[in-house]
Amino acid sequence: MTRVYNTRKRSLVTGGAGFLGSHLCDRLLDSGAEVLCVDNLFTGTKRNIEHLLGHPRFEFMRHDVTIPLYVEVDEIYNLACPASPIHYQHDPVQTTKTSVHGAINMLGLATRLKCPILQASTSEVYGDALTSPQSEGYWGNVNPIGIRSCYDEGKRCAETLFFDYHRQNGLPIKVVRIFNTYGPRMHPQDGRVVSNFIRQALLDEDITVFGDGSQTRSFCYVDELVDGLIRMMNSAPEIVGPINLGNPHETTMLELADLIVELTGSRSKLIRRALPSDDPVQRCPDIRLAREHLNWNPKVDLTEGVSRTIAYFREIIQEPEPHAVG
Ligand code: NAD
Ligand code: UDP
Ligand code: UDP
Repeated sequence: MTRVYNTRKRSLVTGGAGFLGSHLCDRLLDSGAEVLCVDNLFTGTKRNIEHLLGHPRFEFMRHDVTIPLYVEVDEIYNLACPASPIHYQHDPVQTTKTSVHGAINMLGLATRLKCPILQASTSEVYGDALTSPQSEGYWGNVNPIGIRSCYDEGKRCAETLFFDYHRQNGLPIKVVRIFNTYGPRMHPQDGRVVSNFIRQALLDEDITVFGDGSQTRSFCYVDELVDGLIRMMNSAPEIVGPINLGNPHETTMLELADLIVELTGSRSKLIRRALPSDDPVQRCPDIRLAREHLNWNPKVDLTEGVSRTIAYFREIIQEPEPHAVG
């Protein structure tokens, strides 16, 4: 019998031309879905999705999520939001609008379509945490008026909206709190520590350690993080989150710098720069819920993941095209 209508699952990925979003688009296409990638290309780039542009099940739409969106899809991954401090602080009002108005529009869309919607929330909702590791029950220690607040409070408000749509409208929601993630397709100028240190090491420039370098982060390799997003979306309806996704292996910024110098064989020296305000001292996820509910347990160690990321940066650093924001 001839098929008269399309029965494939159609996934919307907002922020799909960004670092995480583009890997997610790849994985969803690999699983046989159709993918609608919506992005305003603020920090994302067509380079991240150019290999998908001719794909018969892939569609790209340049659109800002702060503006309502009327499309037909079966599930929504809401990732649109600049994620690195220099990017989200570039236009902080727009950052809050993206998180809050963007969430309202995507929740409105999901409500009309009665479809599940996943929110890419962040470990930043814990702020400068007073407890470690951070578990989902911890309410956080966030400065509401600082330079990171547009991101932290925007994401916190988006979580509130998700849970209110869930309680008020019975909307199927999924909220994950993503911890620092790294890998190929990170924006080389995004100022994040992994991209900065690798770029500086490859160019034999000074490596800028902020503060005394004793602050910690826990870094998750991108492929494993994306696997966690898909597992969360496909989990039982009663699993709404929030659930932490991150690699619990904690490292100091000095250890990270030393590792990157060693793996690149760089002649760079480490230099100290002032610690930005509100920079969290310690960040490490408690991932018991992800292990239990999603059977998710990241395994790629930092040496392996950083080596793969260095290989990507070696390629793009050769390219003449500048990666400007805007
Ligand atoms: P990214 O900057 O590479 O991707 C974000 C994407 O959203 C970009 O392609 C950007 O152009 C797009 N975007 C921004 N504002 C938009 C708007 N108003 N309308 C439409 N598109 C818009 O960042 P990423 O690291 O891929 O992060 C993706 C998501 O995951 C973000 O929501 C971020 O907050 C969350 N997250 C990421 C990390 C991490 O370590 N990478 C950690 C925690 C949370
Ligand atoms: N919205 C959207 N696409 C849709 C449905 C709604 O972008 O398919 C937007 C709509 O513009 C509204 C927001 O989502 O601003 C919230 O919608 P909701 O139905 O929750 O509230 P209301 O329409 O009453 O404001
Ligand atoms: N950092 C650093 N040198 C850099 C960039 C960042 O020492 O060139 C530090 C930063 O102060 C923070 C940590 O690395 O303590 C992680 O920074 P990033 O911006 O990657 O992520 P976030 O602070 O949002 O977790």
